[in-house]
Amino acid sequence: MASGETNTTHSPEQLSALLDDLGIRYETDVPIGKQMTWYGVGGLAQALAHPAGVAQLSALIARCHEQGVPVNILGSGANLLIRDEGVSGVVIKLDDPSFSQLKIEGTKITVGAGMDLFKLVLECAKAGLAGLAHVAGIPASVGGAIRMNAGGAFGDIGSTVHKVHVMAENGQVYCRDRDDLVFGYRTTNIVAPYILDVEFDMDEADPQDIARRVKEIFLYKKNTQPMAENSAGCAFKNPSVVVPGHEPEGDDSPPPPTQRVSAGKLIDEAGLKGHRIGGAEVSQRHANFIFTHPNCTAADVLALMDHVQQTVLDHSGVALQREVVVWP
Ligand SMILES: Cc1cc2nc3c(=O)[nH]c(=O)nc-3n(C[C@H](O)[C@H](O)[C@H](O)COP(=O)(O)OP(=O)(O)OC[C@H]3O[C@@H](n4cnc5c(N)ncnc54)[C@H](O)[C@@H]3O)c2cc1C
Repeated sequence: MASGETNTTHSPEQLSALLDDLGIRYETDVPIGKQMTWYGVGGLAQALAHPAGVAQLSALIARCHEQGVPVNILGSGANLLIRDEGVSGVVIKLDDPSFSQLKIEGTKITVGAGMDLFKLVLECAKAGLAGLAHVAGIPASVGGAIRMNAGGAFGDIGSTVHKVHVMAENGQVYCRDRDDLVFGYRTTNIVAPYILDVEFDMDEADPQDIARRVKEIFLYKKNTQPMAENSAGCAFKNPSVVVPGHEPEGDDSPPPPTQRVSAGKLIDEAGLKGHRIGGAEVSQRHANFIFTHPNCTAADVLALMDHVQQTVLDHSGVALQREVVVWP
């Protein structure tokens, strides 16, 4: 939760007192889990707000922070599980066109956090700007992709980032430059809860070459992952384990070298492909994908995740960590 720690319910009157005078468009009791996440399960948002620009966003966030009302920001919902109980407070969606602007200046592009990532990849290809083809096919908003440092076999989005504008909980905007940004495996050192826009450093290239590369990467992804199922991509991070033969011999020994291993392989080796709890199932095609059947609940997905974590721990001694973000 970006601000506030509780899942206390706020009455419609409280929400109205919080939001009405800010002039921000919002709806209450919105089925975001079912309608706005790729899993298509889970509960309601008490309030879903659509600020019409940075000034409204800032006023909203500052107000919620002052009053201890939880705020969460929703991207494309491609890495998100909403619990069946729903989310209290305010969920923000950056779907106003002002949050999806694309500005191209030579080889630098600046893009709003609300823009669809694949649309951005295609726009860059059209403009003859190379540097983002490697994230083709990853469903995301630009903000969500930066927050998760989305990527895969061909690299992650952080590698091309030059600058990021973010908003703190008090509504103030500031800039994070390349020099002080660190992107790790599905992580960044951006602590501010709201990403507003991103500047990427691109290279000039032949639009047809870029388009070919985008197509190649997109097809690779389509052929190796069950993209058509209702999932959130990889449920677990690929864990970092000690390289075999380098196990520490005592408490004083230096930290051993580690390597990432495929969570999907560990889940497969634990015999979990096709395992189902309620409406949630481990994909037969890619064991790190959990997908939902009609009538699945968020509780089914969470129960299956727990089962996978425990079974892999028992089978190989490795503790898997969730990659999927769970609200609240
Ligand atoms: C079929 C499928 C395939 C996938 N393949 C990949 C893959 O190959 N590689 C990969 O890395 N991921 C993959 N994913 C996961 C997902 O695409 C990424 O994690 C993506 O970055 C999520 O972006 P989003 O906009 O949907 O974020 P959401 O799911 O909406 O949110 C995820 C997190 O980002 C935060 N967030 C969203 N917008 C902002 C913002 N503007 N400011 C601050 N925080 C924000 C949210 O609060 C939340 O904590 C896949 C998912 C699916 C469904």
